[in-house]
Amino acid sequence: MSLPAPRLSSAGSAPVSTLPGVGPKVAEKLAARGLCTVGDLWLHLPRQYEDRTRIVPIRNLRGGVPAQVEGTVDAVDRGFRRRPMLRVAISDDSGGSLVLRFFHFRAAQVAQFAVGTRLCCYGTPRPGQHGLEIVHPSYRVVDAPEGAVLGDALDPVYPALDGVGPAVLRRLILHALERLPECQALELIPQHLLTDLGLPALRDALLAVHRPPSDADLAALIEGRHPAQRRLALEEMLAHHLSLRRQRIALQAYAAPVLSPGRLARGFEATLPFALTSAQRRVLLEILADLAQPRPMLRLVQGDVGSGKTVVAALAALAAIDTGQQAALMAPTELLAEQHARNLGAWLEPLGVRVAWLAGKVTGRARAAVSAEIASGAAQMVIGTHALMQEAVRFHALALAIVDEQHRFGVHQRLALRDKGARGGGVPHQLVMTATPIPRTLAMAAYADLDVSAIDELPPGRTPVRTVVLSAERRPELVERIRAACAQGRQAYWVCTLIDESDEVVAQAAQSTYDQLSGALPGLRIGFVHGRMRPADKQAAMQAFKAGDSDLLVATTVIEVGVDVPNASLMVIENAERLGLAQLHQLRGRVGRGSEASSCVLLYQAPLSRTARERLDTMRETTDGFLIAEKDLALRGPGELLGTRQTGLVEFRLADLARDADLLPLVHDIGAHLLAADAEAADAIVERWVGGASRFAAA
Ligand code: ADP
Ligand code: MG
Repeated sequence: MSLPAPRLSSAGSAPVSTLPGVGPKVAEKLAARGLCTVGDLWLHLPRQYEDRTRIVPIRNLRGGVPAQVEGTVDAVDRGFRRRPMLRVAISDDSGGSLVLRFFHFRAAQVAQFAVGTRLCCYGTPRPGQHGLEIVHPSYRVVDAPEGAVLGDALDPVYPALDGVGPAVLRRLILHALERLPECQALELIPQHLLTDLGLPALRDALLAVHRPPSDADLAALIEGRHPAQRRLALEEMLAHHLSLRRQRIALQAYAAPVLSPGRLARGFEATLPFALTSAQRRVLLEILADLAQPRPMLRLVQGDVGSGKTVVAALAALAAIDTGQQAALMAPTELLAEQHARNLGAWLEPLGVRVAWLAGKVTGRARAAVSAEIASGAAQMVIGTHALMQEAVRFHALALAIVDEQHRFGVHQRLALRDKGARGGGVPHQLVMTATPIPRTLAMAAYADLDVSAIDELPPGRTPVRTVVLSAERRPELVERIRAACAQGRQAYWVCTLIDESDEVVAQAAQSTYDQLSGALPGLRIGFVHGRMRPADKQAAMQAFKAGDSDLLVATTVIEVGVDVPNASLMVIENAERLGLAQLHQLRGRVGRGSEASSCVLLYQAPLSRTARERLDTMRETTDGFLIAEKDLALRGPGELLGTRQTGLVEFRLADLARDADLLPLVHDIGAHLLAADAEAADAIVERWVGGASRFAAA
């Protein structure tokens, strides 16, 4: 990518080594975090602020609310229980006392805390054994008789850097800010768009967040809603959006094979025991329209668990095979890949399609044989795990790459499969599928490089899963209910959230649950599956359950993704309070797949935290994946919903997709405007905020 040099102010592109106090060693540490230029330091933004403008009386401290206090050391306790620990009790005139607790400390520090010493400390108090305590506060000894000198502004707290202390970093950033040019030289977003919004210029915004003036709205800054922060969040989201759009535009420059369904696709539909739902048909038509173009498709199919994405994928694959080329389907777990291989094999082999299967466990002669079939084109439909992306796997003519449950893969893995099919300037079409619905606003931000289709309808005849939330104390009743249900020919899952009993966290270990249930339910055939089993044993347990040879399957969350056993109509999830909404929704999606009314029991260990209670209530109230995703976003924040791993999005420095969601429509408008009117400015914005990361993602 060519550097849009004229648009970047030259002050910003000067290397950090031009700042006072930056020798080769510091420069190297900064570079390790991508901070190479003075401009990079401008955008190294505070994570939080500390309010050291006032002292809070110790008696008025509240748990969880960060504050600065000043007090006198009353007692010092140096203990070695399981690890070294230092406790320093302080008190002030308010009559309150507070414990400062240290797990790492030096002898010199211990000497500092003589009884009677006055300390000024900052930190977040939490309830401890003896009242409130602060773990690892920042502190200084107060010598002056009149007390600590207070700051007159919020102190910015920067993301920590290895090898560069916070004080040094703060000083470097202040030096860098002295080089900020005048407004015009810095601005890349057209002025008229900004004035309309009442947001400050970039220069003013940067100064305000790094050096908040003493009259700044402190509460707004701490919450991240200050206009200066909104201004920066807008530009940061714009940068990410533009970077995704650019990748998409770059992809469109490649050629892709024109595919159209023929004899096989028609034959397959005719043999299906059911009719496609209208949502499936609509999405299929959207896919086929893309495949008929000589440009690569890049389409995401979102569809709630059980909405029937696999059959749509199979029909898309047949368009490739009908055209004499290959299709590949990649799944995130061996369990799921194998299930796909079995299902698609049963559907497609009768039509004369050769289905091949490749996973890590396929080795030796078998692997060589499969690889040869893939390379010669004899294997028309190839199914596997990420083993498909290994160097040695070569396709003869890959025309369509399908990725199931794409949220389990990173963007890079997805691109790797695309590159498998690259030949002579062309690339395969890509279809990615996910059952993790993402709220619309997030989808706009996360998938700016994809077209999105939604299968927003379940096949007919499904009755919604009834969900009940039960305290673990009622386990015995539940075991009784399972016995009764299985006696009537129903099948049940019992999901444990941990496998290793030695784990410190209090959770039911799957093995002991299995043993217990086996003891309590002697009349039932009980299977057991967990992630650390040999693949063959895992598969055998799944197969037995699917075939109805076991009544109850005790499982860890390995069954979370994609597993399809329509006869299973009862699920128990133990320690449900430990799981997030998305995961609970996925798990629950394993039942309610047949015509039988299904139920899901969420067992929890009391006491419940407030958010855990809200999660379980949400699960009880709705089965709508999109509603659940919205709720998840509100409860967890997008950082966890859309980790880097999930979307390939680099983590934001300042923007918060939940808090700043209202800016997204604007981001789209400005993005479209820039791409059409000033591509150079668009490049410069991406370079400024995303820089090396976007070059890596586009590679
Ligand atoms: P998911 O979208 O979660 O991947 P699957 O593709 O596993 O869902 O489909 C779930 C179940 O529904 C499968 O047993 C599948 O055969 C069945 N199914 C798919 N489409 C239909 C339909 N239109 N009518 C009835 N059953 C269907
Ligand atoms: Mg699926």
